[in-house]
Amino acid sequence: MDTLEKLFEETLRDIFYAEKAILKNLPKMARKAKSPALAAAFEEHIEQTEGQVDRLEQIFEMIGKAPRGKRCPAIDGLAEEAGEIMQEAKDATVRDAGVLAAAQAVEHYEISRYGTLAAWADKLNMTEAAELLRTTLQEEKDTDAKLSELALSEINVEADEGDAKTSGRKSKGGRKEAAE
Ligand code: FE
Ligand code: FE
Ligand code: FE
Repeated sequence: MDTLEKLFEETLRDIFYAEKAILKNLPKMARKAKSPALAAAFEEHIEQTEGQVDRLEQIFEMIGKAPRGKRCPAIDGLAEEAGEIMQEAKDATVRDAGVLAAAQAVEHYEISRYGTLAAWADKLNMTEAAELLRTTLQEEKDTDAKLSELALSEINVEADEGDAKTSGRKSKGGRKEAAE
């Protein structure tokens, strides 16, 4: 791999594979979510992800390559971790907290990839591709922020309360306090 063009193409294939993997896994996470707000956030991001795959296909077309993924061990690992949490967490509210955190790890991987790809597209004078990549980058950042908000306002609080109920421990504080 000797040129930035080639590196760009390979990384595009990496994130293309990742987005497809996400499209396979997010519906499972949405089904498992106990919180309606968390399920809705996942559902919304499934739709966004379909648009993101479209954008990547447009960029493949711009560089004259067939849209083809290349296995991304990072996303496979993150999906595996999410699967483990879904299997292992007995309490539904604790599971929601774990699944939300797993989803944020995925968003952070995507934010890293799209940030890099947009910077490389600039360098390669691919203005239109850079714009498409930044549109997706913003969606990933917004999703991450939304998940953080959900965690602070609802999911972590309920996980703590649910856990306190089963363990007989006093929960660390109410919804309001945790949101501040
Ligand atoms: Fe994505
Ligand atoms: Fe990767
Ligand atoms: Fe995403």
